[in-house]
Amino acid sequence: MHQAQEEISRCIECELCLEVCPTYQATGERLFSPMERLKTAERILKGESPNSREIESIYNCPKCMQCEAVCPEEIKVTQVIHWTREELVRRGFGPLPRHDEIIQGILKQGNSVNGDPKRRLEWLPEEFPRKESETLLYLGCLPSYLVKESATSTYLVLKKLRVDFMILEDEGCCGTYIYEAGRRDFAGELFEKNVDRFKSRGIKQLLVPCNGCLKCFKYFYPEVLGQMDFSVHHVLEVIYSRLKEEPSLLKRVSRPVTYQDSCRLSRGEGMTEEPRELLKLCGAELKEPEKNRAEAPCCGAGAGIRSVYRDLSMKLASNLLSQIPAEEVVSACPFCVFNLSYTSRKKELGKKLTYFTTLILESLGGK
Ligand code: SF4
Ligand code: SF4
Ligand code: SF4
Repeated sequence: MHQAQEEISRCIECELCLEVCPTYQATGERLFSPMERLKTAERILKGESPNSREIESIYNCPKCMQCEAVCPEEIKVTQVIHWTREELVRRGFGPLPRHDEIIQGILKQGNSVNGDPKRRLEWLPEEFPRKESETLLYLGCLPSYLVKESATSTYLVLKKLRVDFMILEDEGCCGTYIYEAGRRDFAGELFEKNVDRFKSRGIKQLLVPCNGCLKCFKYFYPEVLGQMDFSVHHVLEVIYSRLKEEPSLLKRVSRPVTYQDSCRLSRGEGMTEEPRELLKLCGAELKEPEKNRAEAPCCGAGAGIRSVYRDLSMKLASNLLSQIPAEEVVSACPFCVFNLSYTSRKKELGKKLTYFTTLILESLGGK
């Protein structure tokens, strides 16, 4: 039996997951609920041909893990969905044309956001530092091209905290988008190229500001290539441990903010208190939404859905923003910052999105 079928067979149809699933709640379509996705996955994995709505249901899940947080049977719903995406690709039903366009962009230009590689380092506030280190700050496509403030402030904060690190001039993409679309073959090739590059530069540790990169390097690389000889950390971990030791470096930034828990850091990594403590050390006044930490809603950007199902992605983002009490929303995920600020602008919701290192930098006295 396929591992997925073993997972699926444990479903007792209690429907608890329907209450928390954002795609079901936003559309009212049972097909877009975790329970129905499991049934669809079962049929596909048994060899039945899916119709277009069923394919959509497998690809329009942002893998927010809210279902997994409430499932009494601890079913790995997102893993089943991923295996099903790979099966769709094997049988020629996936990836979808829009996925293919982006994958081609990554393979040709080395980034997932159609950025001009010559402009990749525009975020860098100084000359490129020709410095070697065993620690690589891997910025990622989103921070490098679309949420540049997150790249610049992360770089400056790490420097101010005297963290020893290097950056790459021609960084490329981690490949998470390709993996999430189910193209394990192309993803594996890209992963191998990156690993070889890290090896040749003597990299032992990766620091990443992007949650997509975090998930990819930490979980997808070992899953596809086996054990890695570098460790992977969100920059939050390093910044938190430094500033906890030296809180006197921070000056008060007294204003109300809401910390937005991203799916990956809260449900994925259990990292919910460190960012809050950091913001408090900066003097920010935290305003909690009713659903926070492991119960926090999904921003609707992840696992490839924003690029293909933009309306659904924006619905999820608006739903999240409507629950945020403060005007300023601080996040530790550049993709959340990007999708939420885009949605806030488009729908005139009046929220200001800030990547957390921007606030830390301000509290450290700026540049
Ligand atoms: S991961 Fe999120 S969107 Fe996907 S089925 Fe589970 S609750 Fe629904
Ligand atoms: S919560 Fe778990 S067991 Fe209950 S319906 Fe959803 S997937 Fe099945
Ligand atoms: S996870 Fe990061 S590097 Fe990878 S595609 Fe997304 S933004 Fe780019």
